[in-house]
Order: sequence, then structure tokens, then C-alpha cells
Amino acid sequence: MMGKTPEPVKADAHGPVTAAQSSPAFSARVVDWQRVHGRHGLPWQGTGDPYRVWLSEIMLQQTQVSTVLPYYRRFVQEFPTVHALAAADDARVMSLWAGLGYYARARNLLACARAVVKEHGGVFPQTVAALAALPGIGLSTAGAVLSLSGKGAAPILDGNVRRVFARCFGIFGHTALPAVQTQMWAIAHAELPGADDVMAYNQGLMDLGATVCVRSRPACGACPLQDICVARRENLTTVLPTPKPPPVRRTEHYELLLRTGSQGIWVEERPARGIWGGLWMVPMRLLEGHEIPDRAPDLVHELTHRRYCLYASLESGGGGGENGGNGHSPGHHPEKQGESNEGRWLPLPLSDDAPVPAALQRLMTGLTGTGINWPVPPGDAAV
Ligand code: SF4
Repeated sequence: MMGKTPEPVKADAHGPVTAAQSSPAFSARVVDWQRVHGRHGLPWQGTGDPYRVWLSEIMLQQTQVSTVLPYYRRFVQEFPTVHALAAADDARVMSLWAGLGYYARARNLLACARAVVKEHGGVFPQTVAALAALPGIGLSTAGAVLSLSGKGAAPILDGNVRRVFARCFGIFGHTALPAVQTQMWAIAHAELPGADDVMAYNQGLMDLGATVCVRSRPACGACPLQDICVARRENLTTVLPTPKPPPVRRTEHYELLLRTGSQGIWVEERPARGIWGGLWMVPMRLLEGHEIPDRAPDLVHELTHRRYCLYASLESGGGGGENGGNGHSPGHHPEKQGESNEGRWLPLPLSDDAPVPAALQRLMTGLTGTGINWPVPPGDAAV
């Protein structure tokens, strides 16, 4: 049966749209394809056990099936029920999880198992709302747990499904945007088939996204949606889904106090959080407003979300001799800088394995020989 071909639902080349389009043939195509070509025989399929489906769904977040399988088997062997997992030792669960990454998932796994036992008597609830109220379970995971364990009909909208929807229905806008999410959930609800088909349908959407409508070079020739797919028809498979927009980069300006003396250069341990956390760095001070020098920074250090403009402030002859080795920086005003003044002198030139940011090495190299009066001790010209 041929259904209505989805029209592109873009409002323009950049923004999301608001109206969902529905194809009567969409779900039937996915269901028929899954029954023949989809993935069967995965260890949690056909168990009818929400615990096992839930466990697999949490493990599969941002992780491929082939990676998950051995972890899943170890978990169900050691924790065959949600009661067993809820009673588990935290450290044991974390060690079984080691290597799967995204460790917040493991912590939520334990918290969720304990909540199911404590609040639901060890039985996973059977509504999307109650499931989604548990730690680590969102609406899509709730829909998957219900539908793939055969306990109810609910839509899913994980990353793979969002990619299929964006292409097949021609939806522009990054899939994390609330307007796009709203539109996709509307499609997910509108396309959901009857209870007899919902398991094959949801599994089929996941399988299509994972094996056919893959991120780059989708195998459109093998796709059951190929003759209703907007992206295929309009040659948009490399354009959709819309990529994440580049992050807005914030600029911060810092004064760096380069204090040198007979024992080298004074550095302080950075706080664990924030830029260069845990490394040793010369004292830094955030500059605001009129404090920002009216000149080019001595070094620009760029990260994904930040651009740091660094201005060197030079101070020579500042101790190191009578002051001994590690200790408190003479004349340094930590309260002005909002950080500890526990520090030490590092000999110059800095060794390659000095625990300082590479940016400091670059800054000092840049300052040397540029006409700036860089107060390095004799013999440090090669720094
Ligand atoms: S036809 Fe191609 S782009 Fe469209 S849903 Fe299928 S695999 Fe994805």
C-alpha cells in the first residue's frame, strides 16, 4: 500500500516548523520492515520483563548494541531481578559498569532500581508518567520500557528516531530545540500504530536509525521509507537532521602575574574546577570593564565555550631566595584574586613535564624576544 508522501515541513531553511505531517503508510512500512529485516534475538527481546528492557535501554543510551551485550549479560547474571540490583553494593555496580562510560547512568540505574523496590514494591509502573518520574528515565525510555516489554503502547523518540523523523518528514531545526521536540513528539504520537504492532514499530524505528538511516551515508536503497522520504526526494540527507549550532563562545580577560626571581617563576595550584583545574599556574586575575587593557592580549587561549584573553604583568626580583621554596607568595593578594595563594617557585626554563598549562609555556615563549622586558634569569633565553 502506498501512502501519502510527506511534504517537507520546513518553514524556512533555518527554523523549525510547527505542524506535524502524518503519513498513513509510515508505521505500516516500519512494522513490515522490522518483522523481516529488523533485529531479533537480542537477549532482552521477548522476555516481557520491564526490568531487562529497562536495563538494556539505559545501557544503550549513547552506546551501540555490540558494546552493550557483554555488559548486559554480566548484569543480569549477577542481578537477575530489580530486587537484586537494588540490594547491590554501589562499588560492585560501578565496577561492572566500568568501560561503558557516562557513569551518571550507572548511578541513576541504582537509584532507579531502589526507587522501584521502595516505591513500587519491585514492580515497574505501567504508565509513562510514573516511569518517567523515576531516576534516569525520560519520556522516550519510558515508552520503550512499556512497549518493548509488551506492557503498553507508547511512543519513543531517541536520537535514532529523531534522525529518521527529521529526514523522512523533512523537519528542519536542531532536534534538541523545544519547538522541534514538540513537533517530533506530535508525529511520534500521530504515527503510533495499534497495540498489536507497537512493539515491532518502536523496535523498527530504533533498528532503522541504527542500521539503515545512519548518520552519514544512509542506505536509502534498503529503506522501507524511501519513496515517502522528504530528505531522499529532495536530496537533503546530508542536510538533515540540522546540525547542532556552534556554541556561543564567551570571552574572558585575565591578568597573569609573571613573577620571577632567583628560584624561577611563582606558580599556584589552580582550583579543581574551572580553567586549568588542578594544574599549577601563575596568579590570575579576572579583568572587568575598564580594567581590560587597551591593547592586544599577549595570548588568546580558545576553548569550545570560552575565549581567554591573557595579559602578562611582569614582576622581577620577587624573592625566591630568602623566602625559601614552596610556601606563600610574598606580596601576593589572594583575596583580590579569589583563590588560594599556596604556591611554589618553579625553576626556569620550565621543563617539558612541569605541571603547568601549555598556554603558560606558549605565553612565555611568545614574550621572549619580542621586545617585552621579560625578566628571565640569565640562561633562560631559550624558554
Ligand atoms: S530514505 Fe534514506 S534518509 Fe529517508 S528515512 Fe530512509 S534511510 Fe533515512
